[in-house]
Amino acid sequence: MGSHVIVAGAGIVGLATAFELTRRGHSVTVLEKESSPSQHQTGNNSGVIHSGLYYKPGSLKATLGTAGAASMRRFAEDNGVFVEICGKLVVATDPSQVPALQELYRRGQANGVPCRMVSAEEAQEYEPHIAAVSAIRVESTGIVDFRGVCDALRKHVEQAAGEVCLDQRIIGIASHPDAVTITTKTGEFRADQFVNCAGLHSDRLARLAGLQPEVRIIPFRGEYYELKPEASYLVKGLIYPVPDPAFPFLGVHLTRMINGSVHAGPNAIFALAREGYTKLKINPRDVLDSLRWPGLWRLGKRFWRTGLEEAARSLSKKHFLASLRELVPELPDDSLVPTHAGVRAQALHRDGRLVDDFYYERAPRQVHVLNAPSPAATASLEIGKRIADEVELGS
Ligand SMILES: Cc1cc2nc3c(=O)[nH]c(=O)nc-3n(C[C@H](O)[C@H](O)[C@H](O)COP(=O)(O)OP(=O)(O)OC[C@H]3O[C@@H](n4cnc5c(N)ncnc54)[C@H](O)[C@@H]3O)c2cc1C
Repeated sequence: MGSHVIVAGAGIVGLATAFELTRRGHSVTVLEKESSPSQHQTGNNSGVIHSGLYYKPGSLKATLGTAGAASMRRFAEDNGVFVEICGKLVVATDPSQVPALQELYRRGQANGVPCRMVSAEEAQEYEPHIAAVSAIRVESTGIVDFRGVCDALRKHVEQAAGEVCLDQRIIGIASHPDAVTITTKTGEFRADQFVNCAGLHSDRLARLAGLQPEVRIIPFRGEYYELKPEASYLVKGLIYPVPDPAFPFLGVHLTRMINGSVHAGPNAIFALAREGYTKLKINPRDVLDSLRWPGLWRLGKRFWRTGLEEAARSLSKKHFLASLRELVPELPDDSLVPTHAGVRAQALHRDGRLVDDFYYERAPRQVHVLNAPSPAATASLEIGKRIADEVELGS
């Protein structure tokens, strides 16, 4: 007989986990603090199905990301959610970037990603306005409506008699020998198992449950601009720079979105609130939580220069445009309009190392997902399977 499982968080990871658990015959209650699903990372991202190109072979990001790109595409197609596999280019704009591009290509091959090196001329057949000395063409990258995916996941969960309860902020978690009880602001829930998919607040929920997690969530805001319609002809699909291996999530890119507009970004700024979608949003508790974590100081000491560059790109549109012009030199002066921002939940070790891979911790009757950054939306259906395996091991 199936167990009853409570899942914290109706982002894409929580809903995909709930979906998988109901498919396996478990009964599920999702508790979400907001009044609708996918209001945080999931609803404010780039909307890209990543191919699995960047990730260390053998890592969870590589295995679940590559499998997830295929399963996410299938799920969207089967459920009438917008998805388009348009492919992407990773562009070296200077000969000095070619060795890193070739290394990325080898990674892609090792991860089984359909990709190939292309010359500048061939790259320009895909994207006529780029400045390229060489590029990687990846066929399996696409764009998708992740909010639509969440709506479909929720529908499946509810059709299988699962519940998605909104406006339920979790404030207490207690394990007993025979059950786990979860307290929210308005009620108490009892289940056999608990899964924490609370994204930006996942480390706090783990502490609430009595764990001493090895990591702390540090929020990094990613700000986007939109290209004005008259400039959007300069970008056909997805154009990415060669990433810095130390920070693969840095480096602004150009993305054609599901509504046809072109977004540029995101940058990565230390946010002064876990839900700090604007520069002025400050949450003293969140700031203190970050500053008290020794890892943040160690990270800052090693990478202050990178931090300053990102801050400059955040404060100056001219600086942001200059980065984009390395990829597409013809972008006109007044082509950028500020648009949405998202905040990444990035886990950081005490010693200042960013947690590179997806990461979760277990406790009796509990699984806590403590690092699910990009490409976790792409990989969510596969992460859901992995977490469901963990739940069943704990039953
Ligand atoms: C700027 C940006 C761009 C990105 N681009 C991409 C991309 O193109 N492709 C890709 O694959 N990935 C991308 N990602 C990563 C991706 O969005 C995330 O990995 C994914 O959305 C994580 O989902 P989640 O369910 O773990 O978190 P979330 O979507 O943040 O959901 C967590 C949920 O938990 C709820 N919650 C928190 N605390 C509590 C509590 N106490 N009680 C009840 N509920 C609670 C929150 O309200 C929230 O709804 C991007 C991320 C960002 C920020």
